[in-house]
Amino acid sequence: MSDSTAESQPLYEARKKTFPKRAHGRFRTLKWWIMGVTLAIYYVTPFLRWDRGPFAPDQAVLIDLANRRFYFFFVEIWPQELFVIAGLLIMAGVGLFLITSVLGRAWCGYTCPQTVWVDLFLMVERWVEGDRNARIRLDRAPLGFDKLWRRTTKHGIWLLIGLATGGAWVLYFADAPSLIDDLVHFDAAYQAYVAIGVLTFTTYTFGGHMREQVCIYMCPWPRIQSAMTDENSLTVTYRDWRGEPRGKKGKPFEAPPDDAMRPRVLPDLAGGFGPAAQTGEAVDTSRRGDCVDCGLCAAVCPMGIDIRDGQQLACISCALCIDACDGVMAKVGRPQGLIAYDTLNNDKARATGEGRVRTYPWIRVRTFVYALIWGAAGLAILAYLGLRDRLDVNVIHDRNPVAVTLSDGRIRNGFTVKILNMMPEPRTFSLSVEGLDPASEIWLGRESGIVRQPGEAFTIDIGPDRLEQVRMFITVDPTTLSEAATPFEIRVSDVDGSESDVYDALFESGRH
Ligand code: SF4
Ligand code: SF4
Repeated sequence: MSDSTAESQPLYEARKKTFPKRAHGRFRTLKWWIMGVTLAIYYVTPFLRWDRGPFAPDQAVLIDLANRRFYFFFVEIWPQELFVIAGLLIMAGVGLFLITSVLGRAWCGYTCPQTVWVDLFLMVERWVEGDRNARIRLDRAPLGFDKLWRRTTKHGIWLLIGLATGGAWVLYFADAPSLIDDLVHFDAAYQAYVAIGVLTFTTYTFGGHMREQVCIYMCPWPRIQSAMTDENSLTVTYRDWRGEPRGKKGKPFEAPPDDAMRPRVLPDLAGGFGPAAQTGEAVDTSRRGDCVDCGLCAAVCPMGIDIRDGQQLACISCALCIDACDGVMAKVGRPQGLIAYDTLNNDKARATGEGRVRTYPWIRVRTFVYALIWGAAGLAILAYLGLRDRLDVNVIHDRNPVAVTLSDGRIRNGFTVKILNMMPEPRTFSLSVEGLDPASEIWLGRESGIVRQPGEAFTIDIGPDRLEQVRMFITVDPTTLSEAATPFEIRVSDVDGSESDVYDALFESGRH
């Protein structure tokens, strides 16, 4: 690279301040609704209650790190069931692929936390400092009382929003009302204060100061999504074949009455498509396209770009420029949709009159594949949650030695039986051995001592969400054993008959 090129292209480009103007229209209304609903879900969810009985927390959504549980309404996930969380993450990822391949960057434009919080921060900014022109004036004004109180108020509210965001986040990890009480009395764990501090800072910085920079430079998603979109994905498109040549003066080209979307294209347009370009017929150059060059589409853009420059990585498909331009078109009496959601293929077909304008561009192989994977993962998770056991039995055979020969010649094996009650209520289980000589002698014990003599039935009470261990010694007459390792079953059953689990064990004779 020559010196002059290096000078003209600095490696770091300072942020250009943006002052997005408030947009009005259907997409702006939709974004208000989505912003309200997603923020409400985030802030209100920790306070929702869900009755799980007296032995489990009643917070509807709770990540209980201390007890290693995740509660989501009626679902309780144990650490050994983390594959369910993995399945949900796969569903979220594939769902995002599906939405992106059909709707383009709908996630970025409407539901991404960065978009939602920036919208909230911008709302506060407009409320305190005014709309675009007032904010530009204020930004250029020297520091005075007016600028000082507005800036202080704005940053103060931003910090409070950041604090509420961090505060709400930690409430997902403990009983929300108790944790709030602990937090205000400075009785909470220091990790909670650290988490709140970090999230307050990041929310304030990303939402207030770095806004579009997060999307353009920090987030990997814009790069990844390019692999998921194609010419049949919806994207926000400026119909240059209709809008150009832009200008405030001159009469707009008239479309045939039966097709307002057909291009009125000049032969000097780059690439020269459209009927005039193809036929080379004379064109009235005093006429212009539909774009009156008001610049409103760029003024409302939260990313500070101009959609008329073409498809750009920075465009998050928020559609606010569509709202802005539709408003302008209505005022100047031209058909709406100069900027619109469209696929690149459809846009090209409309512009050139060649090819097919697809009514259902989402019907494609990739969208079906994504939907299939998403549905299969969802069904698998539902089936697992519906059919899973709430009792788990694990048996560890004593290893050293595996078998003991008693003085009377009988052989004894020792086992540790682990019984896990995965229900949030106490349960009573019976334990039995099947497949060995019925005359075998079975001793069972807990830490408190022997609890079952041979010939007695054995039941064990286990508390809600608890694991209990039982020591088991089985003594067998060796003449009843046909193999060096005789298979048998250890059966644990809920005494109410609702559930039982069988562990396939081996009785070792000690002879090989
Ligand atoms: S160009 Fe339009 S759709 Fe893209 S970010 Fe800007 S306002 Fe949103
Ligand atoms: S809002 Fe519409 S008319 Fe105004 S500059 Fe943008 S594209 Fe042109």
